[in-house]
Order: sequence, then structure tokens, then C-alpha cells
Amino acid sequence: MPEHTAAALEYVCPDCNSETRLVTLAPGVYALQVFHDDTCPSTREARS
Ligand SMILES: [Zn+2]
Repeated sequence: MPEHTAAALEYVCPDCNSETRLVTLAPGVYALQVFHDDTCPSTREARS
């Protein structure tokens, strides 16, 4: 895993206790997905 990707996994949403996961799209290709709590404003915005 690239070093900068590992650092990005430390990201936590300022509005909730989010969980950041690394998803492998293809060999050597990663994408970060942030999973917010149901109470997080970011989650509500995404659903509206
Ligand atoms: Zn959040």
C-alpha cells in the first residue's frame, strides 16, 4: 500500500466518527470510501 494512502486512512470526518476503508478497484488501484454515521450531516446531504 502506498504511504500516502495509509495516511489517508487516518481521515476522520469532523462531524461524526466515520470509518474510512480502502477499496481495491484493480491491482494497484485503490479508492478510499468514507462511511459516515447516520447522524452525520454529510450522510443526510447525500440522501437528499
Ligand atoms: Zn461524517
